Amino acid sequence: MNKLLLHTCCAPCITVPLERLQSEFEITGFFYNPNIHPEQEYKKRLHEIKRWTQQTGIPLIVQNYETSRWFELVKGLEDEPEGGKRCDVCFRMRLEQTAALAKQKGFDCFTTTLSISPHKNATAINLVGNEVGKKFGVQFFEANFKKKDGFKQSVELSKNYGFYRQDYCGCIYSRR
Ligand code: SF4
Repeated sequence: MNKLLLHTCCAPCITVPLERLQSEFEITGFFYNPNIHPEQEYKKRLHEIKRWTQQTGIPLIVQNYETSRWFELVKGLEDEPEGGKRCDVCFRMRLEQTAALAKQKGFDCFTTTLSISPHKNATAINLVGNEVGKKFGVQFFEANFKKKDGFKQSVELSKNYGFYRQDYCGCIYSRR
């Protein structure tokens, strides 16, 4: 079975992708989200994803909370709307880290759960994913998890599992 590194931003967003990919891939989760603020919120989401991956037996890799690097990268894009240029930079930062780790650890491919959100454009995510996959020499698995009622299912599953579910994307700009 091919090994896939699955970038994820929170427990609610990993539910459906896991269900859909598990028969095809051996999955390892990857939590790298320096975009999430404040730190208390980051810790809440990390706690929930740890709880869920432990319960399901999925290995999880957690990488640095490099907030200063994230703020540096999005400088000048603070007033962009959600779905605009700041998000492209934010996707790229997280997917580059995922691709680099996938290459380093010998995964066959990588992807992200981000496309499950109705606020995120799967085409933009897949474009960035393919670019960084080429850059790091590892295959990107294209996905649009919101298809076939993916988002609705993730809301229902989160309710059933009692997950904490945030009401904003992650950065302070999306919060305001
Ligand atoms: S709105 Fe979400 S995807 Fe866009 S920059 Fe903020 S945290 Fe990143």
